[in-house]
Amino acid sequence: MALAINGGAAIRAHEWPAWPILSQRGEDGLIAVARSRRWASSGFATSERPLDRVFAERFGAYLGISHCLPTDHGSSALAMALEGLGIGVGDEVIVPGLTWVACASAVLRVNARPVLVDIDPDTLCIAPEGIERAITGRTAAILLVHLYSCMAQVDRIADIASRHGIYLVEDAAQAHGAKWSGRQAGTFGDVGVFSMQQGKTMTCGEGGALVTSHRGLHAVFEQLRNDGRRYAETSGATGRMDLVETAGVLGANRAPSEFQLAVLLDALERLEAETKLRAENANFLDDRLRQVSGYSPLRPDARNDRRAYYHFPMRFASDAFGGRKIAAVARAISAELGTWVHTPYTPLDRHPLLNAPRTKRYMAGSLGEVHVPEPLTNCVAASESVLLLHHPILLADKDSLVDVVRALEKVQAHAHELPDADV
Ligand SMILES: *Cc1c(COP(=O)(O)O)cnc(C)c1O
Repeated sequence: MALAINGGAAIRAHEWPAWPILSQRGEDGLIAVARSRRWASSGFATSERPLDRVFAERFGAYLGISHCLPTDHGSSALAMALEGLGIGVGDEVIVPGLTWVACASAVLRVNARPVLVDIDPDTLCIAPEGIERAITGRTAAILLVHLYSCMAQVDRIADIASRHGIYLVEDAAQAHGAKWSGRQAGTFGDVGVFSMQQGKTMTCGEGGALVTSHRGLHAVFEQLRNDGRRYAETSGATGRMDLVETAGVLGANRAPSEFQLAVLLDALERLEAETKLRAENANFLDDRLRQVSGYSPLRPDARNDRRAYYHFPMRFASDAFGGRKIAAVARAISAELGTWVHTPYTPLDRHPLLNAPRTKRYMAGSLGEVHVPEPLTNCVAASESVLLLHHPILLADKDSLVDVVRALEKVQAHAHELPDADV
């Protein structure tokens, strides 16, 4: 049978689980916010506490960390993390070479210089050895990212940061609920950053959070988020504002609305069960994939005792699909499965945004160009050998997961029908 991209019948004809999800509790929460007429944490107080504070408390408790501040996006949380730590002109921040571009653009936005470091091919996360070699007298922070499904070596990297007296920012935008030696991702750094954008495993469409165990830093984050305002010590009387001006920190408005928090409170209730189901299905799929020739599973550290899957990465040997480009394979598998199957990020040293003329304006105020001390060999290899499945697939039943294996085997058998060049 011909490949679906060439007009043949697809392996799978029915739907995958829908994402995002809103339960009845979430719908009720949205209506309740609408009727309360408190639509923002900067709105007038009612007899109820703002959902901004309720969610912060519950998500902080879930993670086991003292302070949490919801934000409008993960990207703004990243920029606030750096601003709050006082990072700026003349500073370097170490960033993985393979990650979402916002990690590097947040560094440029504070006029600091991103220094790109290669990844460990077995986890796709930043490699501690490379970090150690990239540290200079100007390094102010390490920004680590738990990418796709594995956690970075948090304890080794935290140790490097403390030995060098530099900050650690932990980007857990793709790792809600992941654990390392029983401890939650996002709680290892001076600051942890989350995204609640639509594609993430906990979402309200657009949203984020900053977490920290430093009380003083949390106070700075509040002001950075609210145009220099903070919650008053005692909650405002009904009909007054809870926020007071401090005139201490030049902030911006990066607060989410109460509607978003109603949706997040629902998502948080479901997070644990969904994370467990995805991990169980990921293990099942990984097990079945071992029968596919050329499949080379990632090898997370044993201390990463719970994986959270933003994407399910499938790594292959270079000849697994007759030497065809992985992007062509991704398109063929997408057509077989009727869902989004894609390849990893473009390594950041090749990312067009970081080389765009307008971006150079930020660089002009910093130490200059994005710095790449060593070739990003493993980032390039990953971008040429890994296929990614988006997490809603891991909420499907076992028969559906077997469709993934069947699609891979079919495309392998027909690899010669794939375009030779990547077009
Ligand atoms: C999604 C994401 C972000 C940015 O979050 P937004 O909410 O989309 O701004 C940052 N870092 C990583 C690793 C992400 O995956």
